[in-house]
Amino acid sequence: MPVTDWDAIIVGTGPAGSVLACRLRPGRRVLLLERAALRDRTARADAAVPRIGDPIGAGKLDCGDVSVGAAASDNREVFAGADVPRIGESLPGAARVLLQRCGAFDRFVAAGHVERGATVSQWERDGPVWFDHLRDPNGPGWHLDRARFDADLRASAVAAGAVLIDDCGALRVTRDGDYWCVDTGRPAAARETQNALHRAPVLVDATGRNAAVARQLGIARRVEDELICLHAYLPPDALDEDRCTRVCADSNGWWYSVRVPSGQRVLAFHLDADDAELRALKALPALLDKARRHAVLADVLPASADKTVHARPAGSAVLDRTALAGAAPGFFAIGDAGLSFDPIASQGIFHALASAESAANAIEWSDGSGDPAAARDAFLAEMTAVHTHYRQRLHDTYAAPATYRQWPFWLRRDLG
Ligand SMILES: Cc1cc2nc3c(=O)[nH]c(=O)nc-3n(C[C@H](O)[C@H](O)[C@H](O)COP(=O)(O)OP(=O)(O)OC[C@H]3O[C@@H](n4cnc5c(N)ncnc54)[C@H](O)[C@@H]3O)c2cc1C
Repeated sequence: MPVTDWDAIIVGTGPAGSVLACRLRPGRRVLLLERAALRDRTARADAAVPRIGDPIGAGKLDCGDVSVGAAASDNREVFAGADVPRIGESLPGAARVLLQRCGAFDRFVAAGHVERGATVSQWERDGPVWFDHLRDPNGPGWHLDRARFDADLRASAVAAGAVLIDDCGALRVTRDGDYWCVDTGRPAAARETQNALHRAPVLVDATGRNAAVARQLGIARRVEDELICLHAYLPPDALDEDRCTRVCADSNGWWYSVRVPSGQRVLAFHLDADDAELRALKALPALLDKARRHAVLADVLPASADKTVHARPAGSAVLDRTALAGAAPGFFAIGDAGLSFDPIASQGIFHALASAESAANAIEWSDGSGDPAAARDAFLAEMTAVHTHYRQRLHDTYAAPATYRQWPFWLRRDLG
């Protein structure tokens, strides 16, 4: 079967995949494969896909009709093709330098994401505690228009010269000598002659919590916490000018609420997957009633609204380190695919960008005089250190609310 050669194949175009593509371009032929049928087709560049020996160029292809990957996914609520706004909107100021480094910062600034206000938290004690991010030396950070953020990063990757094939079917990954081969199952519809088979020395899993490529390679993903996030997007309220992040502990979980740039307000409750109350709270009136018992939330929530409550896995998960170290060189898992964070850490997007940067450094080092296996080991050691540090911080965070210490939700998270 004819094959198209690349320097790197990245599967998944969330923040992690797109930022890595930006970092590896220019200079490398980078293919981005995305399962979702993208709406932001303005990101498309119409140059041809590079073939062996072609000068490095920019392009985007379609990949035919919709066919969702065969692997079960807990990540179906993708940014594109879904009517639900993407949850995950808080970005710390430290992300600025990473966005600058990959050349996506100007587009980011133009997008009108909103600077974060203070955090009001009812966590360690019964009364509210205010925390002002202005004291953060990196600046207060942002509340994102999340769909725009993801789309802009993808557009930056395409503008930098990565080739994007969206609407991919189930991908089949094999190894051939020093190369990773990815079979997209069919030629791209827009170009009848386009090969379905792609080959590169570097293969990156950036498929988020799905970790689709790693799992296909037999690398187990360990879910550390069966946390579920119930969330609703409440309609904009002209009187709601609050710019704070509101966080609150409850007996069987914890809340956050924040207004996103569209003016909608996110209300999110995190609880155990086996909590008997979960089913009832999928009705918005019940969710609102429960939230409004806390003054820190009642201040900004409407008495009623007619919106859907969505459920999403939100607990920590990590790929098996030993299996990762045993995979053939050139394979990397970045962002949520490698390590997914509890949303209380507000660290997922930053980690997506930072792990993309670390993977880019490892890939560049292997391309030079470096040993690819040593470069990957260094990357894995860094990810392990991130995980260890995160677990310690998570433990301290969940140990703090004294009021609910004896409740099952909090006892379970005595991660000691
Ligand atoms: C409830 C909740 C709240 C959160 N809040 C925050 C927050 O406030 N701040 C924060 O920083 N983080 C937050 N996060 C985490 C944050 O959203 C993620 O960490 C971030 O999206 C990870 O980026 P990623 O690129 O690794 O993965 P994703 O953004 O999940 O992107 C993965 C991409 O891969 C694609 N894909 C999946 N499977 C396949 C396949 N088989 N083939 C091809 N493509 C595939 C998907 O369509 C998607 O485009 C939150 C998460 C949850 C669940």
